[in-house]
Amino acid sequence: MFESTMMNMPLTIDILIQRAQTVSSHVEVVSRQADRSLHRSTYGKVAERALQLSRALLAGGIKKGDRIATLMWNHSSHLEAYLGIPMAGAVIHTLNLRLHPDEIAYIAEDAKDRWLLIDEVLLPLFDAFKGKYPFEKVIVVDSTKALTEGRVDYEALLKAAPKDTPLPELKETDALGSCYTSGTTGRPKGVVYSHRSTLLHSVVSALPDSLQLSFTDCLMAVVPMFHVNAWGLPYTALLVGAKQVLPGPFLDPTSLLDLMEEEKVTVAAGVPTIWMGMREALDAKPRNLKARMVVGGSAAPEQLIRDFDRHGLELIHAWGMTETSPIGLVAKLSPEAKGKSLDEQYHMRAKQGLPPPFVQVRVCNDSGEVPNDGKTSGEIQIRAPWVTQSYASNDSKDRWTKDGYFRTGDIATRCPLGYVQINDRIADLIKSGGEWIASQQLENALMGHPAVREAAVIGVPHEKWSERPLAAIVLKPDMKASADELRAFIAPQFANLWLPDAFVYLDTIPRTSAGKFKKTELREMFKDWKWEK
Ligand code: ADP
Repeated sequence: MFESTMMNMPLTIDILIQRAQTVSSHVEVVSRQADRSLHRSTYGKVAERALQLSRALLAGGIKKGDRIATLMWNHSSHLEAYLGIPMAGAVIHTLNLRLHPDEIAYIAEDAKDRWLLIDEVLLPLFDAFKGKYPFEKVIVVDSTKALTEGRVDYEALLKAAPKDTPLPELKETDALGSCYTSGTTGRPKGVVYSHRSTLLHSVVSALPDSLQLSFTDCLMAVVPMFHVNAWGLPYTALLVGAKQVLPGPFLDPTSLLDLMEEEKVTVAAGVPTIWMGMREALDAKPRNLKARMVVGGSAAPEQLIRDFDRHGLELIHAWGMTETSPIGLVAKLSPEAKGKSLDEQYHMRAKQGLPPPFVQVRVCNDSGEVPNDGKTSGEIQIRAPWVTQSYASNDSKDRWTKDGYFRTGDIATRCPLGYVQINDRIADLIKSGGEWIASQQLENALMGHPAVREAAVIGVPHEKWSERPLAAIVLKPDMKASADELRAFIAPQFANLWLPDAFVYLDTIPRTSAGKFKKTELREMFKDWKWEK
């Protein structure tokens, strides 16, 4: 036998702790606090406090695999929990504070969370569901007021933690964290990340052709730490030693732009709707910025990418899901794509992109894998070391193919250069006279009109056609665009049958907790729509 002589070092969270304590101990973590002031810490301090948290958990009887919930904004104490909970062998379960209180209670119950770490400013939200799920202990972070009985102050907990409790040995396959799907198309389902999946995901997300993060960067994760671990970016930044700026509860364009300017942010990450608000603020008052802006969670309209370029901000479009940790596709320009015309480059950047290393993506319909012709569509199926192979407490076995790929429910095509483009979610496709109409394609085209801020297209019941598309439009302030004008604007790109028959103008489009269009609610709003005969 000629066996490998390499060290078998498990890929566990202590790799990040060790780095934070040594090579990058001086790197800053800047958090906007609930009172708007800026709190400054370093990776060294964050790691030290994280280990105090680990020891406090162990002293409190927390055992390997126990779930500890967080209900927090993006700030350094949340980063401490990201490290400290898994260092104790426990599982950090980030609760989504934008969900209905009953849904939060349902998710905590489903995961059987033992303790809760909560921001003081979120206690009113907790009051709305505390009777529905009994956490064993509630730890209040950044508390400024006297605590009611049974609640523990986070700082006091850290202070009282024993100094020398040994930490448990971790296996790379141990559970590290858990997120629930945001339930856009069904009840939330739990996904459990391992130490190994998180570490590998961090390495690949930092690569130049992925989200590109280095120790020369300053990252601002606007995407919440309670949504797919802020796309894993806090861990990626820890791995490479990039400075982190955490915006707390203040996600309005001005607060974010101020932070970007003041802290010299070079990489930011957020969903299209947040960046759309930022575009308006920048159009009204341009600033001198230069940064890469990761965008995902829902499709980034091509126009948004073009507009951000004007402001010195490079949008990087990426696709993923809670089930995929989330990185599955990234739309960076390959050398072949860079050889195309500028317009074509924008089209490529607006696609969802190419799979990074370790990720295997195929697009399949009933006849098998579709050709890379940019026309034939099928469902995206994905396999990677950071894609879930089951849900925590839900069967849904039909979500996996026999050969182990995860069925995403996203319908896409693939162009000759291999770029995947999502046309729609299966659940949102519109069935009209035996044809399928992809609502997302119409939305992206409509959002290319200069007067349109947002557009969501849904199928509405129709006697003759079974369904017809209706477009809900939000116009930019003080702008106008009639139905005829919008129809004519997108007509060159689509068959006649695809063009929406109705346009309604709304102040806002209902959104899910993760900022996606809430099409279930829109369909409910327009279910009794009377079509003109
Ligand atoms: P939920 O499935 O409950 O909405 P997720 O946040 O996991 O919660 O959403 C994943 C879905 O979001 C994907 O399946 C896809 O439909 C959509 N999505 C994510 N990123 C993009 C993107 N860049 N373009 C289009 N759709 C996207």
